[in-house]
Amino acid sequence: MSTLSEHEREIILSSIRDIPDFPKPGILFKDITTLLNNPKAFKTLMDHLHTRYGNYELDYIAGIDARGFVFGATLADRLGLGFVPVRKKGKLPYTTVAQKYSLEYGYDEVEIHIDAFGHEGKREDGKRSRVLLIDDLIATGGTAQAAAELINRVGAECVECCFVMELGFLNGREKFSQNVYSVIEI
Ligand code: AMP
Repeated sequence: MSTLSEHEREIILSSIRDIPDFPKPGILFKDITTLLNNPKAFKTLMDHLHTRYGNYELDYIAGIDARGFVFGATLADRLGLGFVPVRKKGKLPYTTVAQKYSLEYGYDEVEIHIDAFGHEGKREDGKRSRVLLIDDLIATGGTAQAAAELINRVGAECVECCFVMELGFLNGREKFSQNVYSVIEI
């Protein structure tokens, strides 16, 4: 298991741009496009995740629509694993399983393909596929908790939920029965 040095943490954190009042007044949006277009910061982050998850005996990485796709697919390629997109409702073409979650007003829904982690979520040896879920940021935790539930509902095992950033004051991690790891807590 790797620990992030103070220097590496600073390289990653300083590459993330704060945008006040986006997408609505009162929200401080954490913009990771400035991390992605900074090769040193992106590599520092991916090296850290690669080291951390190298020994987890994972079968798949699942990434949440849309920024989780970038980190998830990059990590999957590095680890030689399959990548599975968890998408917003109505985007996936094959048979899907859906999970609703509450927003401040109303609800939203995420979906995955029913066979994304193998038939009934199992590997060829009959064991449940081991899946790491990843997204850029955990706020209330509603989106990722629904995604983790979906992974388990199709028969696979969500072994950990990983986030580049965690807004710790919202206590989102308390929603999870799985292990939650965040690279940087804010
Ligand atoms: P939540 O379900 O409340 O944990 O929200 C997490 C999702 O919303 C993630 O996909 C994030 O990308 C996005 N999100 C929530 N708050 C922020 C924020 N302050 N800055 C950037 N993205 C955010």
